Amino acid sequence: MKKLTAAVIAGVLAAAALTGCGGSGSSSAASGSGTSAAGSAVESSAASEVSSAAGSSASSETGSAASEAGSVAESSAASEAAGSLTTVKDGVLTMGTNAYFPPYEYYEGEEVTGIDVEIARAIADKLGLTLEVEDMDFDAIITAVQGGKVDMGLAGMTVTPDRQENVNFSDSYATGVQVVIVKEDSEIATPDDLADGKKIGVQLGTTGDTYASDTPENGGYGEENVEKYSKGADAVMALVQGKVDAVIIDNEPAKSFVESNEGLKILETEYVNEDYAAAISKDNDGLLDAVNGALSELKADGTIQSILDKYISAN
Ligand code: GLN
Repeated sequence: MKKLTAAVIAGVLAAAALTGCGGSGSSSAASGSGTSAAGSAVESSAASEVSSAAGSSASSETGSAASEAGSVAESSAASEAAGSLTTVKDGVLTMGTNAYFPPYEYYEGEEVTGIDVEIARAIADKLGLTLEVEDMDFDAIITAVQGGKVDMGLAGMTVTPDRQENVNFSDSYATGVQVVIVKEDSEIATPDDLADGKKIGVQLGTTGDTYASDTPENGGYGEENVEKYSKGADAVMALVQGKVDAVIIDNEPAKSFVESNEGLKILETEYVNEDYAAAISKDNDGLLDAVNGALSELKADGTIQSILDKYISAN
């Protein structure tokens, strides 16, 4: 691996460490973690709906409906946090995303679905909020979060020091790896082979764009060699059509694009490891704490893992 790449990884790791100390969350409430993932997810979302609809006095009633004390404790802790929450629309958690990033977010008919949508819905349930998804260009998400257009950006978004200047990130809920897609018969065998003037396709405003567009001294390939597309799928289409020689993009969408387009492959050398997290306004610490609290409960009870497993196969 190149030294530049290592430097980028170090930066990303440092960023991850920073976010790590940001949110301790209300993990003490997550004691019911021995329960099966699917069961407790369903229970706790039902419980938080009931308790938010009828006020906190409903939580003991909910207790008898839910068979497990653990999940009741979890959901009432989370919905207590929700009491003091400010969101863009009352009672609604608005998520900004770019719905062309399978399996994290993509359209199924008219509906946006995927890992991030399911995680956001589980968070919203914990907080007694209804989820709404707003699809927008990836490079508009941070601005939408900052400007109070959406409550959080959840878009397979990597925690980076640059972005941390503009928004806060929740604790990380998943990891990603930047990989290189090429045609099956390509002479490009490692990321180093991209250095001799190859044309590289990326999605505008993503970390893949940032790394690739950087100067060769910094381990990039130079702005002049990078073609930027507003959707990852468009970059892949350009590769299929021979307009670019390679695409740098996150590994899970890469797998999905390679599956749905003949004649492409992913290079074995991984490019950069990253942490995904929710982007939240610097002016909304209440929401940041609540999202971190919900995430830590959803990690402890296995919900996050079961959502990831549903969309990502082990190999
Ligand atoms: N993880 C990458 C980034 O944060 C790409 C995300 C995306 O395209 N949705 O820049």
